[in-house]
Amino acid sequence: MNNGKICVSVCAETASEFIENIKRAEEFADIIELRFDCLRENELYSAVQEILSLSCEKTFLITFRPKQQGGRRELSLRERIKFWEFLFFNNKRKNLYADFEFDLQSVLNLKSTKAVFSFHDFAGVPENLEMTCDFYQKLTNADILKIAVQADDVTDSLAVWKLLEKAKKDNKQLVPIAMGEAGKWTRILGLAHGAPITYASLEAGKETAAGQITAREMIDVYRVKELNEESEIYGIIGKPVSHSLSPFMHNAAFKFYDLNAVYIPFAVKNLDEFIKRIVRAETREIDWNLKGFSVTIPHKQAIFKHLDEIDETAKKIGAVNTVKIESGKLYGFNTDAQGFIEPLKTAFGNLQNAKVAILGNGGAARAAIYALKNEGAIITVFARNLQKAQSLVNEFQVELKEFTNDNSQLNTFRDFDILVNATLLGSKGEFENETPAYAAQVENVKLVYDLIYNPFETKFIKEARKANVPTMGGLAMLIAQGSKQFEIWTAKDAPMREMSAAALRKIEN
Ligand code: NAP
Repeated sequence: MNNGKICVSVCAETASEFIENIKRAEEFADIIELRFDCLRENELYSAVQEILSLSCEKTFLITFRPKQQGGRRELSLRERIKFWEFLFFNNKRKNLYADFEFDLQSVLNLKSTKAVFSFHDFAGVPENLEMTCDFYQKLTNADILKIAVQADDVTDSLAVWKLLEKAKKDNKQLVPIAMGEAGKWTRILGLAHGAPITYASLEAGKETAAGQITAREMIDVYRVKELNEESEIYGIIGKPVSHSLSPFMHNAAFKFYDLNAVYIPFAVKNLDEFIKRIVRAETREIDWNLKGFSVTIPHKQAIFKHLDEIDETAKKIGAVNTVKIESGKLYGFNTDAQGFIEPLKTAFGNLQNAKVAILGNGGAARAAIYALKNEGAIITVFARNLQKAQSLVNEFQVELKEFTNDNSQLNTFRDFDILVNATLLGSKGEFENETPAYAAQVENVKLVYDLIYNPFETKFIKEARKANVPTMGGLAMLIAQGSKQFEIWTAKDAPMREMSAAALRKIEN
């Protein structure tokens, strides 16, 4: 356990919706941030009075921020001063903090107010951040300083993290926030490393800043209040990573064993910088207990040159999806092949001489081909770009055919036992309404295996069902490859049921 608090941000345009949100935030929050700048102008003062007199045990943190500092509307200095004077005059609550922008300290008498002073930079990380922070600390003598900067790559967040480390040495309280997907880790690990507060959203879609995680996930998935400086850190590196289910399944596994460990999404753009500044013990700029990470698109091949040792399977597949860090060394593995083949063998049985069509020629296809060859299957790869797929089929000595979803000359797969979708067609987002094949094309196939796990049931799976073909989605592979990762990192049996339930809960949410 650490001593940090979860602050849930509440923002609504009307008093009734605001109060409704406060009531819901009480379930998770230690502190509730009341973003009064969200309220409609004509409701502001009556709403503030009503809200301040609510019976609520939680500490309120009042914010009335102008647009250029991340607030919801334009506010002149006069309007802001009027608001705060009104608030000081009307407030009778003891458990109340106020969040001020720095310009207010010279125009308001703040001596009797418990204050958070906040600084935001939505454009990036200012070069002189440490000096700025020192200056404001001296100027305000703030109880708590909050510094929020926009992170475009994971390493951009190091600047605010260093401020936290310095604040700890100086015995000051500082909330470091790197906004955006690349800064999520600062929100998850802040409390463990001495930040007094971390901010969370009330629910998905109600974020008040980029990269905010819901309070429920902060508590149930990341267990942020239970972490400390010794907590083992794992994660997934890639770009993007926000869609990943891995944090849900791995954190469920850590929770099952009550391990002092957490698994975090790391949005990594520049892999070389990430390895140098965040991973390698000799060069990293952060003091933490990083033990390993999953690797996803686009770093599965590029990671090779950074590894001290690579296992044979990963070398043969030509991709690493798992890194373990031990005694300062980086070891690379690939668990996709095993993750692919185990559920397939369970569903289909012996694969010797089974005729398998693989749609796609990317990383997942590589792992599938490698695993199927080991089982003695006869493989045909269907690729939309034959030239691009040539080196893969040469390397693995498999047949290559052109994949087409041109309606006038659709492929037919009736001569295959198993049809595997390793393309993006059907995956959540842009391709969700697409399918790599229709019912008529898959008649007589014995099993359709769609590697996509989100959505749980793809259009392709539905088409296969129409043709009465048994189907398998990608969740089984996801869990199987994740369970191997867990075993590599912890040397414990993976709690597959818990991992699977956690991933499914997230998909269905
Ligand atoms: P990848 O390396 O980017 O490969 C994507 C493949 O899809 C490439 O062959 C690409 O063809 C093809 N493709 C993309 N858009 C297409 C389109 N519009 N029409 C036809 N083909 C298209 O990605 P990956 O890592 O192999 O992943 C492939 C799929 O497997 C994804 O849907 C992913 O979610 C799934 N997957 C699942 C698991 C699991 O655990 N269940 C694990 C890994 C991957 P080009 O090469 O011509 O661009």
